[in-house]
Amino acid sequence: MTKNTGSIVHESLDALFEDSTFLPELQNEEREKALRSIRSILSTPNHVYKSFLRLPLNNGEIVRIPAFRVQHNNILGAYKGGIRFHETVNEDEVINLATLMTLKNAVHDVPFGGAKGGVIINPRNFENEELNLICKKYVRYFSDIIGPDKDIPAPDMGTSEREMDWMMAEYKSIHPGESYLGSFTGKSIVNGGSLGRKTATGKGVYYSFRYMLYDFLNQNKDWLGSQNNQYANKLIALKNKPLNIAIQGFGNVGSIIASEAFRCQYLENKIIAISDRNVTLFHSGGLDITKLINYTQGNYGDLPKNEKELEKANISAKIMPRDDLLTLDVDVLFLAALEDQIHINNMNNIKAKVIVEGANSPITGKADLFLNKKKKIIIPDILANAGGVIVSYFEWMQGRDTKFYTEDEVNNQLFEKMKKTFEIVYPKYFSDHFSLRENCYIQAVMKLSIVLYKQGKLY
Ligand code: NAD
Repeated sequence: MTKNTGSIVHESLDALFEDSTFLPELQNEEREKALRSIRSILSTPNHVYKSFLRLPLNNGEIVRIPAFRVQHNNILGAYKGGIRFHETVNEDEVINLATLMTLKNAVHDVPFGGAKGGVIINPRNFENEELNLICKKYVRYFSDIIGPDKDIPAPDMGTSEREMDWMMAEYKSIHPGESYLGSFTGKSIVNGGSLGRKTATGKGVYYSFRYMLYDFLNQNKDWLGSQNNQYANKLIALKNKPLNIAIQGFGNVGSIIASEAFRCQYLENKIIAISDRNVTLFHSGGLDITKLINYTQGNYGDLPKNEKELEKANISAKIMPRDDLLTLDVDVLFLAALEDQIHINNMNNIKAKVIVEGANSPITGKADLFLNKKKKIIIPDILANAGGVIVSYFEWMQGRDTKFYTEDEVNNQLFEKMKKTFEIVYPKYFSDHFSLRENCYIQAVMKLSIVLYKQGKLY
């Protein structure tokens, strides 16, 4: 895991305590008391629900499947967060992810709180009929605590639009006559899903990078130069430079990052390496991303993994061991596969100058500290991969109004929302000593604290 979310929240509060512009009306003992109060509110979830879903299997066996819903905080709006179907998911992980959702929504000013769900199964071990029943039971067992104005789940690892459609249908049956389109997001388009939802995370990840390396850098070059800040100097050194890029993961998030980078007119990008669960493909002259996306679409999502498949895909590339991608000499490394990919054993060999987190927690806490000491620019998950939850918010609004946006409208609103966050956190990052991750946490905790204080909840 990346440095525990809770401990970064504590560090953010310490930083805010010293900041005289933060809640200046609170002084001395009152200030200490308020900060203690925020600390306890944010470091514990409001509710942890656990049930054992009873499931008759097709083979006649009956099993009880542990399932969770954690509601961390709803001061900014209804609880919101995905449901993960995975055999290793556990209560602590779900609490940590729910906390991250509270902070992600706060930093991007999305009017939702934070929640997360988990079901301890490997979905590959179940028939479709059984998975359908697991989804229905999840909704039945937690039907009192979810709903469009209470808690709105979405897909996560092991779940997709199919499961959200099933769950919404069950919610509708349990609550006849009530509004139901906003009860789940990440649904299929015909069931009230949003155009642009599938590509939103990858597009947002790439935009967080492009905005920093192009828009922000060009608009603020002189200001950056005057900051005497090592991160700012590293950024200036990349101005107008051709950029060699490596992307770990070529699924929903990684392939969209690749296609955005491939056709970006603002930066001189060359994608020299991509990887998936099997291989790394390398070409110093740049890989043909369009051909590779076409190939994976007809190959269960997998990249060509041997010479024969490369030939079939009509791709020139060198095949390398999968994890070699991480330590290649590139300017930019996008991480869009799994958590804990950069860790104590490989952190010394990371050469990329900029690292962008498309996946959640792809850098361990120790590696994060180490890379920040080396002044690598890291665009963290909380900032970069929020496109999914932002477009989920648009989906929820469209469901309420039963009025749907075009894909361009969704994308433009997504970029507009993310840009507003970048305009707050990028100038801070390039002018103080905190990492970008810490700056995002400080911003999120500040927003939550001020709202709590103004609602009279800091007693
Ligand atoms: P996906 O299942 O579509 O794709 C995952 C990709 O990673 C596949 O190409 C797979 O082959 C590859 N992969 C698996 N193990 C690998 C390894 N060891 N090395 C290199 N590649 C490997 O998943 P996704 O939706 O693209 O999500 C990727 C990550 O982003 C996940 O960690 C997910 O939690 C996170 N995320 C996704 C979204 C979203 O909206 N999809 C939102 C936020 C965060």
